[in-house]
Amino acid sequence: MSAKDSRRFLAQELAAAAAAYQAAAVIPHCAECAKPCCRLDALVLELEWKQVKTLWHLGESRPAFDKQLAAGKGPEEIRAGNGLYYIHSKPCPAYDDACGSCKIYGQELKPQGCSDFPVYEDQGSVIADLRCEAVDLKALVAWMARALGPEFRVIQSADEEFPFMVTLSVKRAGGRRKPSRRTVTPA
Ligand code: SF4
Ligand code: SF4
Repeated sequence: MSAKDSRRFLAQELAAAAAAYQAAAVIPHCAECAKPCCRLDALVLELEWKQVKTLWHLGESRPAFDKQLAAGKGPEEIRAGNGLYYIHSKPCPAYDDACGSCKIYGQELKPQGCSDFPVYEDQGSVIADLRCEAVDLKALVAWMARALGPEFRVIQSADEEFPFMVTLSVKRAGGRRKPSRRTVTPA
C-alpha cells in the first residue's frame, strides 16, 4: 500500500472510530445534557443561505435579507460574513427543547458541523471539543487505541488558544517521536 493510501485508510479508520464513539457515548446523552450545544449560548452555528432561508421560513430574496441584516433589522442572532451566516446566543430554530433533539436529524439540511460535533476526523487526526459534557477524553483515547490496535499510539495536544479543542493524533508505535511542548502522552 502506498503512503497516500495508508494515510487515506487511517483517516477512514479514525472517522469511523469518531462516529462510533459519538453514537455510543455522546448521542445517548444529548436528551439529558445540562448545556445543550444547540442552544448556541457557547457555540456558533455556521449556515449557508439555503439553511437560513428554510429554518427561519424566509420569503424574501437573499439580497433583501442581507440588506435587512446590515440595517440591524434582521434576526439579532444572525451575523453575515464570508458568504455564510453565523448564529449565536439564541437556540437553533431546528432545536426541540422539550425533547432535547434536532428536528432535522438525518436530513440533508442539517449542517455537517453539527454532525461532526463534538468528535470528528480532520486531516488524519481526531478532534475532540470538550465543551460537550459527554466527551470523556480518557475514554475516547482508550476507544481509539482499541479501534486502531497496538500498532498505533494516540497522542493528545490541546489548542493553545482554545484549550477545549483537543487534537488526538496517531503515530505508529515504535516510530520516532518529535518532542513538543504541547504533547501529552495519556496515562
Ligand atoms: S453538548 Fe454534547 S451532549 Fe450536549 S447536546 Fe451537544 S452533543 Fe449532546
Ligand atoms: S441543526 Fe440540529 S444539531 Fe444543528 S444546532 Fe440546530 S438543532 Fe442542533
